[in-house]
Amino acid sequence: MDIVAATGTRHVKTLLILGASGDLTGRLLLPGLAGLIGTGRVPGLVLAGADAADSGGQAWRDRVQKTFGEARDAANDAGRRDLDEVAAGTTYRAGDVTQPGVLGRMLAELEGPAAVYFALPPAVTEAACEVLAPEEVPEGTTLVLEKPFGTSRQTARALNRTLARLVPEPNIHRIDHFLGKATVLNLLGLRFANRLLEPLFVSEHVAKVEIVYDEELALEGRAGYYDRAGALRDMIQSHLLHVLAFLAMDAPASLGERDLRDSIAATLEVASVPEDFARSARRARYTEGSSQGRPVPDYAAEAGVDASRGTETLAQVEVRIDNPRWAGVPFILRSGKALGRRRKEAVVTFRPAGHLPAGFRGRDSPTRLRIGFGPDTLVLELDVNGPGDPYTLDRVDLRADLNSPDLLPYGEVLLGVLTGDPTLSVRADTAEDCWRIVEPVMAAWAAGEVPLEEYPAGSGGPAGWAAPPLT
Ligand code: NDP
Repeated sequence: MDIVAATGTRHVKTLLILGASGDLTGRLLLPGLAGLIGTGRVPGLVLAGADAADSGGQAWRDRVQKTFGEARDAANDAGRRDLDEVAAGTTYRAGDVTQPGVLGRMLAELEGPAAVYFALPPAVTEAACEVLAPEEVPEGTTLVLEKPFGTSRQTARALNRTLARLVPEPNIHRIDHFLGKATVLNLLGLRFANRLLEPLFVSEHVAKVEIVYDEELALEGRAGYYDRAGALRDMIQSHLLHVLAFLAMDAPASLGERDLRDSIAATLEVASVPEDFARSARRARYTEGSSQGRPVPDYAAEAGVDASRGTETLAQVEVRIDNPRWAGVPFILRSGKALGRRRKEAVVTFRPAGHLPAGFRGRDSPTRLRIGFGPDTLVLELDVNGPGDPYTLDRVDLRADLNSPDLLPYGEVLLGVLTGDPTLSVRADTAEDCWRIVEPVMAAWAAGEVPLEEYPAGSGGPAGWAAPPLT
């Protein structure tokens, strides 16, 4: 059986991962792929890895064997057989893909249709695509690109043009693995299948929306990438804007590729930072402290960091959506590293009840819906008449712990790649729009118009930062 028989859709025969020895491949791609293969949904796949420097391939085969071996326990019978077959048959090649002809030769050797996953440094990916000639790309090839997709709207547009001359748009998968997160996808069911919620997701009823992705982890040796990106580009520009799109979009006609991505695009197209964004856009960098019981050095003193770049490790930006549904509602996006508490959630704060009858005692707090992204939870915070005095309001949480998903986020997006379904990948226009939205902030920060604040690692951020209250 092959993938087409298992899924009834167009299929990829060979997945070539460029960047076989890389961090992304080892930590996220191979585990996601192993989990997917273990479900038995992608039979007949051939896996190939490639690096620039020729390691002989044994390290690659060991890496695949180890990760796939670890996935066997959770796999079903068909999946276990597939994991063993893919691991036994994996191949390896080496070559500098920024040199003309190198990637073309690799493609010519593969059993097609093939998907090429560029798990490479972004500049290498761009150079590799530029030197690739259209005639070197066999028909049906899929190109899979990681974030960051360009470094600005202009460079994203240039990269889109380069890709467009190689393969048709549906064969380009721009990965944002947040689109494969179960909780992000659950937003669709939560919003559009519940009469109780959908009519309330409008400016008349919502006071603000906060999307927070605070990590306890510090740099973890990734200065080479992170010091050139920072929290705004690493998290807000890509992942959090997509969460915003899922929270704010109008209902798509269907969950098909065209309708869903049209709804995402229509939302982001009218999203922008407010004119006076400098008032609310804040940035900060951690100083020496401790996190998770371990000492954390000052960010500026971390190996590989160029302190003069002024890279922020915590960023907060307000975004507005200029349409009738959301006019006037602030969407506050925040993400940071080395913070005292891991907090990954979207919080929708509703406006106060129109009229609270006189005579109630106790607090009168806004209704809040909190959507947790790992652990995946749903909490609706309500005021009710509490125990004891029946006219005293008390807070209760209606809580649901969502089941752990079938697939890891990278497994979910790889399923789209391997079955030729780009629904969970970022469309060309959206990739450019995400840069347009944050570019005024990037420019203001580069010009020093917003001070770079400081916070000790392990704290809650600089004093006075507005952040949604903790449960
Ligand atoms: P790494 O630096 O860990 O790995 C880079 C890989 O690219 C190595 O295998 C390297 O091979 C290969 N490579 C470099 N130059 C060339 C070349 N000229 N020709 C062929 N191969 C080359 O990078 P990451 O894995 O961290 O990141 C890869 C991509 O994934 C980036 O776009 C990053 O932004 C993105 N990403 C990474 C995440 C992560 O957690 N790491 C998370 C989300 C996205 P060799 O060793 O032989 O040089």
